Amino acid sequence: MRLVDTRPPFAGLANLSEGALASLPTPCYLLDEAQLRRNGEILLGVQQLTGCKILLAQKAFSNFDLYPLLAPCLAGTEASGLYESRLGKEELPEKENHVFCAAYRVDEFNELLDYADHIVFNSPAQLAKFGPAAKAAGKSVGLRINPERSTQEGHAIYDPCAPGSRLGTTRAQWDAALAKQPGLAALLDGLHFHTLCEQDADALAVTLDAVEEKFGDLLPGLKWLNFGGGHHITRPGYDLTALEACIARMQEKYGVQVYLEPGEAWALNAGYLVTTVLDTLQNGDTSLAVLDMSAACHTPDVIEMPYRPPLLDAGEPGEKPCTVRLGGPTCLAGDVVGDYSFDAPPAEGDRLIFGDMAIYTTCKNNTFNGMPLPPIWALAEDGTCRELVRFGYNDFKMRLGHRA
Ligand SMILES: *Cc1c(COP(=O)(O)O)cnc(C)c1O
Repeated sequence: MRLVDTRPPFAGLANLSEGALASLPTPCYLLDEAQLRRNGEILLGVQQLTGCKILLAQKAFSNFDLYPLLAPCLAGTEASGLYESRLGKEELPEKENHVFCAAYRVDEFNELLDYADHIVFNSPAQLAKFGPAAKAAGKSVGLRINPERSTQEGHAIYDPCAPGSRLGTTRAQWDAALAKQPGLAALLDGLHFHTLCEQDADALAVTLDAVEEKFGDLLPGLKWLNFGGGHHITRPGYDLTALEACIARMQEKYGVQVYLEPGEAWALNAGYLVTTVLDTLQNGDTSLAVLDMSAACHTPDVIEMPYRPPLLDAGEPGEKPCTVRLGGPTCLAGDVVGDYSFDAPPAEGDRLIFGDMAIYTTCKNNTFNGMPLPPIWALAEDGTCRELVRFGYNDFKMRLGHRA
């Protein structure tokens, strides 16, 4: 197997020796410290140039063993709820702790106040219900707005601006709430929007036009504006200059501190999933291979998004002589990673390496079919590999019941 591939998802494998690769168990997630550092440095550069603050959205990447590596580059963590907020507090206690949840629970809110510094509410009703307690506890309070300007077509499930969305407060919702409770506005320290997914700064600029059009009158009195996530900042070719102009535009015009909270960008192309071919089959015209990793269990976004992940040394279907459909060992007919082409057909025992596997994988996997969770390893900058965590039968059983 050729380990040197300069295409972005595999560039970091140049550090990995054949011997180190062969010693990894499969399936196995391998997190790439050099690539994480590279991403961190790009994000630090944006902060240094513009004065904005960039948070790690933990829902995309929360392998806290590697938080110390990112810590010098990040301003804080962003959480989707109580547990992620607590994780950020435990693992990066010196950093800012931000949380957004579509609806907070009464029985969790007091504990959340122990962890979070910035609390963002999704609706005027949630702001009215919890905002006064958050303010009394000294928290910075925000409202997620919905600027109602879709900038993506590809993935409807990732478009919070779609008609009928529950995410974010529209201007009409805000005006209606304010008419009944004029005191709501005084609770706000900032506004938050999250409308992008794997997008470039041109989509951000369009979103900012809509934010100004709909909510511009609220901004001058506020302390901060959070641009959410979905900024593909560390992708080769991303227009950093346009991003920096977007940040400067809002900071200068409204005097607000700009925050960004990407998830993907921190760990983009910074991980691999190493898997072994367990069996090969032929069904009519279709060549198949069954792997020891499952798309449904170990890379759920492959099915949910859906997308076809990059595979080292493989081409598009039909591009190379042998096209093979790769699937997992579960009972699910749709547990298919995708169709790939190879110079020679993969054989039982071959190792395959999927790229860009650090995001939305280790934090989103599951044990459907009793599938074991792959261990998580780290690839250090000197090319050595070490195990961060391994899982066993108990990690499957403990979620299903408890016999005293
Ligand atoms: C998902 C999400 C993020 C991170 O998104 P990425 O696409 O991983 O950058 C940030 N903020 C909020 C509110 C989110 O829902």
